[in-house]
Amino acid sequence: MKFSTRAIHIGEEPDFREGSSGDVVIPIHLSTTFARKDVEVPTGGYEYSRTGNPTRFAFEKKIASLENGKFGLAFSSGMAAESTVAFSLLKSGDHIIAFDDLYGGTKRLFNKVLNNFNIEVSYVDLTNPSNLEAAIKPNTRMVWIETPTNPLMKLCDISEISRIAKKYSLIVVVDNTFMTPYFQKPLDLGADVVVHSCTKYISGHSDVVAGAVVVNDEEIRKKIRFNQNAIGAVPSPFDCYLLIRGLKTLHVRMERHEYNAKMIASFLSSHPKVEKVLYPGLESHPQHDLAKKQMSGFGGMISFYLKADANGVKRFLSNLNIFLLAESLGGVESLINNPSKMTHASIPEEERKKIGITDNLIRISVGIEDVEDLISDLDNALKSL
Ligand SMILES: *Cc1c(COP(=O)(O)O)cnc(C)c1O
Repeated sequence: MKFSTRAIHIGEEPDFREGSSGDVVIPIHLSTTFARKDVEVPTGGYEYSRTGNPTRFAFEKKIASLENGKFGLAFSSGMAAESTVAFSLLKSGDHIIAFDDLYGGTKRLFNKVLNNFNIEVSYVDLTNPSNLEAAIKPNTRMVWIETPTNPLMKLCDISEISRIAKKYSLIVVVDNTFMTPYFQKPLDLGADVVVHSCTKYISGHSDVVAGAVVVNDEEIRKKIRFNQNAIGAVPSPFDCYLLIRGLKTLHVRMERHEYNAKMIASFLSSHPKVEKVLYPGLESHPQHDLAKKQMSGFGGMISFYLKADANGVKRFLSNLNIFLLAESLGGVESLINNPSKMTHASIPEEERKKIGITDNLIRISVGIEDVEDLISDLDNALKSL
């Protein structure tokens, strides 16, 4: 079955056994515990809902299938998924090599939490994969990447990084939140672990906080699965239902996010009040060739630099009517964000400037509204500059 057919059917095969209702949509199993007939064996396969829940299992099956992976695991947030991966696959004394342009929350987890457990991190510019080999130490266990990154849209070559990592038996983790499996399949490119903030495109409607992990290797699955239950950061059955509902339209939404993003990127590129646009789908993007090679589309996230000072940026943002000024991304509604003041405000100003997160940088999460309305909203706000 192809992607869209799997998105709709996997994990929700109707139950035709005697006495079952044949639901087309998996029910929300709210029960926290499951009765059994035999003291030794759980009759229906379930014991306690943190350990296993039928609605959650349906979501885990669906997301695994869409990532072309064998096993899916659901968590109560993207950060819960990331922490459980780290605590399952690393131990005190280990070293991680991380892409230097990672989601802020991931850096916080590494620097302020894992750090207390004597797990060391080096941030390396992995846009050039040969920098990976140079950073490997005897205690390096893991490579952690995100591509394209937020908000600077830098890419790294998943196949090449995985090839080098394999020589040294390093586990490669890819945060696939931005592209989703619809546009990028890290496991097919050689990665070992995919993590998601399902709060974004996977749920797609800005109404669930959740995370997921997908892997192929049985040993890796066993370790993460053990801690999914032992640490216990699992999503509720209702959230799992919303995630399943979200996944069913992922392909349709991603197509539209991308269509709108391409039109907007091209509009902004030719606008005199815009200094520069960062979108992997533009030929001007320094890694456009890599984007074409490892992604089947360019996604719905765009960053751009306005020709304006801090006051101009404020004026531009306050003149928008459709774009909502908010953090987060990946929902059906278009969101706009000024990273230096919002999502990336916790990075010290000096460092921010050095990497390119200046006050005139704007990030947009392009929604699936009518693209002409979105462009005229931007055009109108740009006139205020
Ligand atoms: C939002 C986000 C996360 C964290 O996920 P939560 O669901 O907010 O915990 C991790 N990685 C990326 C790329 C994100 O955008």
